[in-house]
Amino acid sequence: MEFNTITDSLKDQLSTLYSSTTMSLWFNQLSIVSLDEKQAVMLAPTEFKKNILEKRYLTVIKEILGEILGFDIEIKLISAESEESLKPAAPVKEEQDEDISAYKLRFNPNYTFENFVVGKSNELAQATSLAVAKRPAELNNPLFLYGPSGLGKTHLLFAIVNEIRKNFKDFQILYVTGEEFTNELIDSLAQKKPVAFREKYRNLDVLLVDDIQFLANKLGIQEEFFHTFDTLYKQNKQIILASDCQPRDINNLEDRLKTRFEMGLVADIQPPDLELRVAIFKRKTVDMGLEIPNDVLIYLAENIKINIRQIEGSLKKLKAHSFISGEAISLEMAKSVLGDFLKSAENSDNIIEKIFNYVTKRYGLSKDALKSQKRSADIAYPRHVAIYLTRQLTSLSQKSIAKIYSRKDHTTVYNSLLVIEKKIRSDVQFEREINQIMEELRG
Ligand code: ADP
Ligand code: MG
Repeated sequence: MEFNTITDSLKDQLSTLYSSTTMSLWFNQLSIVSLDEKQAVMLAPTEFKKNILEKRYLTVIKEILGEILGFDIEIKLISAESEESLKPAAPVKEEQDEDISAYKLRFNPNYTFENFVVGKSNELAQATSLAVAKRPAELNNPLFLYGPSGLGKTHLLFAIVNEIRKNFKDFQILYVTGEEFTNELIDSLAQKKPVAFREKYRNLDVLLVDDIQFLANKLGIQEEFFHTFDTLYKQNKQIILASDCQPRDINNLEDRLKTRFEMGLVADIQPPDLELRVAIFKRKTVDMGLEIPNDVLIYLAENIKINIRQIEGSLKKLKAHSFISGEAISLEMAKSVLGDFLKSAENSDNIIEKIFNYVTKRYGLSKDALKSQKRSADIAYPRHVAIYLTRQLTSLSQKSIAKIYSRKDHTTVYNSLLVIEKKIRSDVQFEREINQIMEELRG
């Protein structure tokens, strides 16, 4: 039971770093079989997967598990089959098929309207989503939800899907992310099957596209999406989009798409106020079967402000810690387990500013250069340092850090971490400087 919670947290975190394909290939079937203060033993389904996990993902798993538990831990991987290991091709292919069917609908039964706690900051988004779910294509078409990460956009999209499925059983519904739409389109063009792609997308009753901001700057993809949109819209089919910003703030978005995205209803989600945070904490503790004293609840609600994913993260962390230590959850425990987590979440903007200041001064370059796409060593190196410091001093995911430094994805962040870790190991002087600056920035 408790292992499941920890495994779930691990997978949650991994899914912010990796694509759904990678998740289903390597992580979805991974589980924890034993755990103490020193070591977690994890079970992979095959010897082949175990070896790949060991080679590519052990560091990242170790880092995330350490974060969840609040202390460093060794990972030992075992596999369900120890003998028949040498058949790499088969599992890969099989999983790819699985992934394609997952495109059809990724059904998450927990993302429902019943489980969505409503407050001032999200009531418009919730109410319009519910209206669309009850009466698709009658009101609010398209529905465009936007807001920062971790505030419930994906949850609402799934809630709409779940609700429509109940009442309109024969509806063709498709949920995809902007990234999946893009990849699928590119694949269909490469395989010369654009007709199949169009048929699939243009015969739907409801199309939901999550993280549509992924189409920013991709004019070719936008062109195809425009025709998809228009075809569905003209047939009076429901379209629902979610994004981290308003249509007008999506970079290089064709005007005709901008106009269409704004033509129905645009609803924002804001960070939750104290009242809503308390309500969500209460709700999640009940769902997780946790008993948390009121003073802890208040402490948490006052300190976790930005993001609902952090609310869940903090509870899972407390639950894991209490399970391993055998102690009941108390204010003291919450403070010691979550202290760094809270502090860095709270001050991350502040700290990032300080990191920028330090790095630009120390290496004599501008903030723009740091965020630019230039890769010459005089800029790349200071950027590695800045990224490393951000990772050490905030609780931001590698993906969010990539965004801050205008990098394509988390792999660049991961690469920076490796470069700097290596340098630290080989250069005592540098190690001293980094430690000193981290002390100062932590302030
Ligand atoms: P986004 O797509 O906006 O980044 P998600 O929908 O993935 O955010 O939400 C992050 C997590 O927070 C999910 O586990 C979701 O269930 C939870 N969550 C967000 N908003 C609420 C809410 N109002 N009530 C309950 N849970 C919520
Ligand atoms: Mg989302």
